[in-house]
Amino acid sequence: MPLTYPKNGETLVLEVEACIGCGACVDVCPHAVFKIEEGKARIASKATCMECGACARNCPVGALAVEAGVGCASAIIIGKLRGTAPTCGGDSCCGSSTKADCC
Ligand code: SF4
Ligand code: SF4
Repeated sequence: MPLTYPKNGETLVLEVEACIGCGACVDVCPHAVFKIEEGKARIASKATCMECGACARNCPVGALAVEAGVGCASAIIIGKLRGTAPTCGGDSCCGSSTKADCC
């Protein structure tokens, strides 16, 4: 399980009315913050959001906004180099035992 902190994800905003349910945010979010219910994205776990900005960058209708913060800088840089969402790529530098625990 990703670590959670009280202030995580506080800048994340989802406009449910604008959402077309494409699932891109579910696919790119490294912390499983979203789920799709009745054809719309829902925030399932705001406290695990690291404000990386991947969801907002990939939403085709601008239904998501987040102030991208520092998050795991290593994961963000690797993601940018690979053209993917933030990922540690299995090279955990923070001591997490699995990729799912990282970032
Ligand atoms: S900002 Fe990053 S961690 Fe937060 S919901 Fe979006 S993709 Fe997930
Ligand atoms: S990426 Fe945007 S439109 Fe697609 S499911 Fe997520 S919030 Fe909805």
